Amino acid sequence: MSGVPPGMSDAEIVGMIVENDYMSAIEHISFTFDISEMSIAASREFLEHRISSHTGRSTRYNEEDGFGYFIPREIQNNAEALSEFKQAMEYSNKVYQRLKELGVKREGRRYVLPMAMHCRYLWTVNARSLVNFLGLRLCVRAAPELRELAKQLHAIAVEKYPEIFKEIDCRGQILGVCPENQVRDGFPCPYKKGKNRVPTKAEIKLKK
Ligand SMILES: Cc1cc2nc3c(=O)[nH]c(=O)nc-3n(C[C@H](O)[C@H](O)[C@H](O)COP(=O)(O)OP(=O)(O)OC[C@H]3O[C@@H](n4cnc5c(N)ncnc54)[C@H](O)[C@@H]3O)c2cc1C
Repeated sequence: MSGVPPGMSDAEIVGMIVENDYMSAIEHISFTFDISEMSIAASREFLEHRISSHTGRSTRYNEEDGFGYFIPREIQNNAEALSEFKQAMEYSNKVYQRLKELGVKREGRRYVLPMAMHCRYLWTVNARSLVNFLGLRLCVRAAPELRELAKQLHAIAVEKYPEIFKEIDCRGQILGVCPENQVRDGFPCPYKKGKNRVPTKAEIKLKK
């Protein structure tokens, strides 16, 4: 709309827009992701990303007995904790079915379903908002399930629009300054030391 030098390819135009941070233009690109397995816990965090459209599987209108569930890595790696976790899931499922036998409707029964339960989730997001999402959720401090999901969404986005997404990583890397300040120190952040080190906001302020 603003006129571009003649002979530029579409990919070059998108690249120029991103390079110069004219990001409103990429709001016209949107993605719809059909996420088949997301825990209820992660879906609550997902919903915090307001500049996008969310549709989750209804527990009022669907039967959930025999539900699948997310197992955090920390629990997967601890045999005793894993056994307790699985028992809790089985018990929840059992009570859900028992309440059905007792005549309780789905909208009442669903309150015994666990945060780990998988739900299907449709998410439509424009490219600008997706960049913001990835910047936040590729950070090592993001919840592990969301970070894993962010990596998968990032891979799809890079495949479709490499000009926009190939350089995208956590927001510290995007901005060249980490807003997490000292908090990142307790995490395996790839940017806290070495030649790729990203300074913290506090360090930049100290230099002034
Ligand atoms: C490591 C990590 C830790 C977190 N910890 C917590 C926590 O402890 N508690 C918690 O509640 N949340 C937490 N969050 C969630 C976080 O605070 C944001 O709610 C979430 O990441 C969504 O980001 P967003 O607002 O940028 O996204 P969106 O809602 O998609 O908004 C995108 C952008 O639009 C603009 N915008 C959107 N809505 C408004 C508005 N109403 N007014 C002005 N500008 C607006 C802002 O510029 C915003 O960045 C955490 C997130 C991360 C990654």
